[in-house]
Amino acid sequence: MSERLPLFLEGRFVQSSSDQSIPVTNPATQAVLTEAPAATTEEMDRAIASAQAAFEQWKHTAPSARARLFMRYQQLLKDHHDELGELLAQETGKNFEDAKGDVWRGIEVVEQMCNIPSLLMGETVDNVATGVDTHSHVQPLGVSLAITPFNFPAMIPLWFFPTAIAAGNACILKPSEQDPMTPNRLAELFVEAGFPPALLQVIHGGKQQVQYLMEHEGIATVSFVGSVPVAEHVYRTATQHLKRAQCFAGAKNHMVVMPDADKQQVINNIVGASVGAAGQRCMAISVAVLVGETREWVTDIRQALAQVHPGHWDQPDAAYGPLISPAAKARVESLIQQGVDEGATLELDGRGCQVEGYPDGNWVGPTLFSQVSPDMTIYQEEIFGPVLCLVEAADLDEALTLINNNPYGNGTSLFTASGAAARKFVSEVKVGQVGINIPIPVPLPFFSFTGWRRSFFGDQHAYGKQAIRFFTETKTVTSRWFDSGMPASGPNMSINL
Ligand code: NAD
Repeated sequence: MSERLPLFLEGRFVQSSSDQSIPVTNPATQAVLTEAPAATTEEMDRAIASAQAAFEQWKHTAPSARARLFMRYQQLLKDHHDELGELLAQETGKNFEDAKGDVWRGIEVVEQMCNIPSLLMGETVDNVATGVDTHSHVQPLGVSLAITPFNFPAMIPLWFFPTAIAAGNACILKPSEQDPMTPNRLAELFVEAGFPPALLQVIHGGKQQVQYLMEHEGIATVSFVGSVPVAEHVYRTATQHLKRAQCFAGAKNHMVVMPDADKQQVINNIVGASVGAAGQRCMAISVAVLVGETREWVTDIRQALAQVHPGHWDQPDAAYGPLISPAAKARVESLIQQGVDEGATLELDGRGCQVEGYPDGNWVGPTLFSQVSPDMTIYQEEIFGPVLCLVEAADLDEALTLINNNPYGNGTSLFTASGAAARKFVSEVKVGQVGINIPIPVPLPFFSFTGWRRSFFGDQHAYGKQAIRFFTETKTVTSRWFDSGMPASGPNMSINL
């Protein structure tokens, strides 16, 4: 496994001719697992040219034939679920169950693509004028580009390339350079399922490769998931190059706790949603808003968080794994110090965390701050670590104001026993994914992943019907058939039909 990772070019694995590589490490040990090549421009040109050629054939493939290939692909992913989970766990550090969950949430998108014919249906209206009918077709656009982050190396690539390809496009995937082994294996299984070569290609590298690909005239659409500054840059560049773009960015997700909520449920849910996956989820709960007397629940929350510990992916009691890199760990620890310096109360300090047998892992223990206020850096920045901030609010209105004043709008949740409070929250909160007594409300793929405000730049979201719209163009046909012998009327000089 320590050999350099190949590109997946023109339907097969090829060693890059680049002399630049990025090491891929096991974040629990720092052992180098492989190296990701930084693809050359010549390789990227080849990928795009062959993807375009594959697209010209593939767009004519019947949707039902495409669906049958997706049925094979979802079965192969299920057959290899444990193997993929283990590979993913090694390069991300996620515990085995969570790593398998990462794969599973991607498989669910592939399952949806087995139903692609009905998702591609157009619309028809008979007799829009006398003897005139209108119907619409949806048609693919060409070569899609998907740029994905480190934190879900199976699920997020699987948000994009199956949908793009099922809709009739080809796709170039540029996965995160921090965990590129899982995406390569997803591509290998894709070809094993019987898809034509070159329809999916995997280009490795970092920002230079993204820059080149997203500006390339052969790319029709750009899908991006990652941090806010990069999402802004990718959205601006792609749209400036007149491409359709959807860019999913960072978040600061609040859970509001009402006094009538079930306390034990709240505590269990807060623990999993805040420090699960070491807090490296764009839908992680990073702020809990304690309303009214729930401000007295701080000690219980601290005690519950103190029970969970990170560990190596194959340790059954590992609640979560290490952070992705030493740099990520240093950043999170420095934000914790900033929280202390700016006056928040550090209830539980995860710095200096050790896991027996893994002295070099990027460990950070569960960390809890109370007395956090909106002017503090730990409130304003996405920490992306196992750190929960507690803020207080007098009532639901105050909690809503806090959330709606925050620039991000990815996810939020309300824990309550009141239907009226829940309805008000759903109606008034300016966040795209809302959970009622559900801490991480990620919609299943028959809906779409609908972050708002600075958590998303674009229009149509990922997977579901919105993604089909993103990856297709609508063609509207208006037709009239003349009966033989029907007298021709004179020229029509107005726009009336
Ligand atoms: P990142 O922005 O560092 O990297 C994402 C991708 O962009 C990678 O493929 C990387 O190679 C590339 N990249 C990095 N810098 C670039 C640059 N300057 N120019 C062009 N490309 C560049 O993000 P990450 O650290 O891998 O992922 C974590 C972030 O992703 C968090 O902010 C998280 O909230 C966010 N995220 C958002 C969602 C969502 O759906 N909103 C989902 C998952 C992750």
